[in-house]
Amino acid sequence: MHKSIVLLPGDGIGPEVVAEARKTITAIAQRFGHDFVLEERALGGNAIDEFGDPLPQSTLAACRSADAVILGAVGGPKWDDPNAKTRPEAGLLGLRKELGLFANLRPIRPHRQLIDASPLRPDLIAGVDILFFRELTGGIYFGPSSVSNDGTTAHSEMVYHTYEVERIVRLAAEAARARDNHLTSVDKANVLEVSRLWRRVAGRVMAEEFPDVNYDVVLVDAMAMHLIARPASFDVVVTGNLFGDILTDESSMLPGSLGMLPSASIGETEPGLYEPIHGSAPDIAGRGLANPLATILATAMALRHSLEMEREAAAVETAVNQVLDDGLRTTDIATADEAVVSTTTMGDAVATAIGSPPT
Ligand code: NAD
Repeated sequence: MHKSIVLLPGDGIGPEVVAEARKTITAIAQRFGHDFVLEERALGGNAIDEFGDPLPQSTLAACRSADAVILGAVGGPKWDDPNAKTRPEAGLLGLRKELGLFANLRPIRPHRQLIDASPLRPDLIAGVDILFFRELTGGIYFGPSSVSNDGTTAHSEMVYHTYEVERIVRLAAEAARARDNHLTSVDKANVLEVSRLWRRVAGRVMAEEFPDVNYDVVLVDAMAMHLIARPASFDVVVTGNLFGDILTDESSMLPGSLGMLPSASIGETEPGLYEPIHGSAPDIAGRGLANPLATILATAMALRHSLEMEREAAAVETAVNQVLDDGLRTTDIATADEAVVSTTTMGDAVATAIGSPPT
């Protein structure tokens, strides 16, 4: 199969972890006989330095015509001047907007080999496998807002349109069908009018189009508690922008390491954007200390969600499990008595494991 993938290394540890994702893609191409065309483009701080623009036209055009886009991370102290004309983050936000990426997917699946890294007890973490769908382009972050002339009062409006709820609930319900067939919608319908609309629309879509999927609704404050008390009881969770922002960050603590968690942003027609949830980690950049597994697992998501290559995605995830079983650990996931490997050693090991699957 012929597919084109744009790589956006970005800043800080971004280039280091994306280089390892490149090895993963090459190993998958070799094992499964695919022809992947890889193109690297600038985004973020490095694009400001080179083009004076965090999202150059050439980057946007390349992303638009690709089948999937894989990003490292953007930002760093070099571009932090509050008076600067533009910032690296503007490149990422601009890209998400231009590609119409309205759904942010964040899988939370702690690796059994790293169970001790979780702040929760192992019996609570066992079996946790949640896929969040957070609405990304609507809600309170994009509603009208203002501050009074004297600066003493401000308002931000949470707005949702029916079509925004319908499209993300459909995506989440389809994902649930391919997993454990259970979808939970999270809102605040006991207080907010906008949540009552969300609940009504979500309920109608589920009743009319997905009667076979087990569906329930949970209030956001209760959900914050359930995610700590019984995280293994959820499968797919769909929610709005603000609630999703908070709940996905809360849940990202369950596995206990930032360096292991991928995410995806997808829309209806344009290619999806796949990235680790961590930032550019300037404190460890250029030292071979970064854990590349989040970006490698983001590559697996790209294979699954944008390239429709389920077998290949599973092969990447199996390889990651294998290297963890073999005891490979970067600094962030090593316990005091464990030996530590570099970013490239970890990436090489995953590529080798893809090439030599267990028989
Ligand atoms: P961060 O995620 O970059 O780092 C937080 C801590 O986790 C640091 O101690 C770092 O060393 C460690 N860490 C992160 N990723 C790691 C990995 N793969 N392996 C090992 N350790 C890892 O968050 P921050 O320090 O708050 O932000 C740094 C910069 O990244 C800022 O400029 C911020 O704006 C930017 N940022 C970018 C994105 C993005 O591109 N999507 C997301 C978050 C932050």
